[in-house]
Amino acid sequence: MSLRIAFAGLGIMGTAMVKNLLAAGFDVAVTNRTADKAGPLVAAGAAFAATPAEAAAGRDVLVLMLTGPEACDAVLFGPGGAVAGPGQGLGPGGVVVNMSTVPASYNTALAARLAARGATLVDAPVSGSKKPAEEGTLVILAGGPQEVVERLTPMFLAMGKKVVRCGETGAGSVMKVSVNVLLGTMLAGFAEMLRLGEAGGLDRRTMLDVVLAGPMANDLLRMKEPLFENDAYPAQFPAKHMAKDVKFAVDAAYETGAAAPCAHMLVQLYRRTVALGLGDDDFAAVIRAL
Ligand code: NAP
Repeated sequence: MSLRIAFAGLGIMGTAMVKNLLAAGFDVAVTNRTADKAGPLVAAGAAFAATPAEAAAGRDVLVLMLTGPEACDAVLFGPGGAVAGPGQGLGPGGVVVNMSTVPASYNTALAARLAARGATLVDAPVSGSKKPAEEGTLVILAGGPQEVVERLTPMFLAMGKKVVRCGETGAGSVMKVSVNVLLGTMLAGFAEMLRLGEAGGLDRRTMLDVVLAGPMANDLLRMKEPLFENDAYPAQFPAKHMAKDVKFAVDAAYETGAAAPCAHMLVQLYRRTVALGLGDDDFAAVIRAL
């Protein structure tokens, strides 16, 4: 039987992901704090729900694609929340799939809170940004019981090209936050290299050609090439989200005792980018902070 899905969070990522769920034939009810954003999805066949409780009622799965922990708390437990009151919203046996990037510790605590209500949490953050979300080529990093992740796999494969079960609930978030330290470091290094060369009198286009012709060329740097070339940074992955994610990495490093010197540096760099008013720009705008 096909899963009946409720989806909360119609931002850059959520909107594209719901389009792909609808195209794959899933029955989806959407809800969003800013209700207007649901319009194009309703036109494409989604049901609209004014509140998360209304969206989740009678559904098998509630997907969250929200900014961070505060937004998840608001959608689940706030007024009109999906699990805010007894007998409302998601029923017993329901599954919450948290695809937002949040700390693993948040998801493990949330799993216990939901279990008390008979619901299961799977954390399933994604690797890939706006374009892969639109193309349905995200990589889904899932944490949760094997059989539940298997049951969700057809839904995941409507939004992504690959599902990696990283372990029990929380493991997907450990993977995601770790991956984003690599992502943030690669872009900060690319931006620093361009600034250093420019300060020494080099032309930016020539430097891009050198990097992209050599062994350091990769899909990420190629994707960011036009942004650096045009010195314009429309958001694929907003700098404010990178600033949030590297802070989660630093917190995780304190919790686990891992060394995280790059993550510490990245918090300063991406927070500076946000402080310059560039939080809604792509994280490649870190070059402006340099
Ligand atoms: P976004 O465009 O900023 O959308 C954020 C969503 O969260 C919106 O639907 C927003 O509602 C909702 N929200 C924020 N605060 C809320 C609150 N207090 N109560 C209820 N809803 C709230 O973000 P995005 O780029 O789609 O990213 C979503 C998640 O995916 C984030 O965790 C991000 O780190 C992660 N991610 C993003 C990318 C990327 O490239 N963009 C890639 C991988 C992972 P409104 O519409 O009302 O503001």
